[in-house]
Amino acid sequence: MAQLTCLGSCREIGKSAFYLEERNESILVDYGTKFTNPPSFPDMVPIDNMQAIAITHAHLDHSGGIPRLLAEDDNLSLFCTPATRDLCIPLIRDMYEISGGRMPFTRRDISRIKRQTQPTAYEETIPLGHSFEMTLFNAGHIPGSAMVSIRYDSKRVLFTGDFNAITSRLNNGARINLPKHDVVVTESTYARRLNPDREEIEQALIQTVLETVERGGIALIPAFAVGRSQEVMCILEEYGIPSKYPIYVDGMARTVNKVVVKHPNYISSPHAFERAVKRARVIYNRQDRANALKRPGIIISPAGMLKGGASHFYFKMLYGDEKNSIVLVSFQIPGTPGAELLAKRRVTVGNREYAVQADVRYHHLSSHSDSRGLMQMLQSIPGNPEFFLVHGESESCDALGAKLEKKGKKVTIPETNDSFEV
Ligand SMILES: [Zn+2]
Repeated sequence: MAQLTCLGSCREIGKSAFYLEERNESILVDYGTKFTNPPSFPDMVPIDNMQAIAITHAHLDHSGGIPRLLAEDDNLSLFCTPATRDLCIPLIRDMYEISGGRMPFTRRDISRIKRQTQPTAYEETIPLGHSFEMTLFNAGHIPGSAMVSIRYDSKRVLFTGDFNAITSRLNNGARINLPKHDVVVTESTYARRLNPDREEIEQALIQTVLETVERGGIALIPAFAVGRSQEVMCILEEYGIPSKYPIYVDGMARTVNKVVVKHPNYISSPHAFERAVKRARVIYNRQDRANALKRPGIIISPAGMLKGGASHFYFKMLYGDEKNSIVLVSFQIPGTPGAELLAKRRVTVGNREYAVQADVRYHHLSSHSDSRGLMQMLQSIPGNPEFFLVHGESESCDALGAKLEKKGKKVTIPETNDSFEV
């Protein structure tokens, strides 16, 4: 018997962290941030007998607190794909700078990730201490994302992290035909949504972009720096946007592009992505930004929900002209400027309200499986596992729980810091 403690992402998204203890040894899977002000982290756990930390992927809600743990012990090792290692470092640095250093670790601790990571490929099995064995499987969510499978005694537990079973222009779909598992700790993000057909969304996105540039406007695509920006670049490349319309990339996406090019094994079409990177014009400074606004074109820029970043600057320059369009490509969390824009065609920044004249479109390129995809994937795991549902709004966890129970599965929806014998 091992003990599983769910330290975070219980009935919410943020602060993913799971602590598994067996005899006198332990493993931690993920140690992420929640974007409160200042950002918050899961409770600390003892690291004396910790054999490893594994991270599923680079998004900060899974990786953001890692330097805090590594700072406790120089010999503590982090296991993740090399792509995850190289993506999470710039993301954590950026979070650190934005928070003004209000973090439970120093800037120097972030560079420990490079030193203390043991890069691990998909499907490679690694013994950890006397009690555990770990294997990473492709999760299909962003480049380098993994499901973490841990064997202990004669049992096996799977931490799905965030996953997408569908192959996109950027990512191969999650590993199917998983081995037998006894316990599955799964995300529930889109347990209450059905995503439209991928190709339809891509075509609609291309149509919006072409209509915009052909009428002399600029299409602003606010997108997450990791994953979504690269996918949009690949879609624009695939559908062949005429070269007279420049495609610009700004913000953190520039750094991420360089990292992803270095890890071609972790994307679905490395050559297409390389072509997309060559085609894109990188924005380095104010002069580049001013130039990008001079003629019809496409600007891909974080943040994905118009929450600050370079996308704010472009928004202010483009919102007032109906020739332009603002194209949202991810779910917009209620309370964000992006959600306000979709609902009311206006955005409030500080005391100022911007009534938007530009065309506003929503083409959601999800990087998570939808309710059907979740059920298909979870039901296909052999061994009749017990399910722990995390990483979703409370209602989403309940919805997925009800569906799994209907199929005769054993389901638990943990609260923060709940522990279980598994
Ligand atoms: Zn994620």
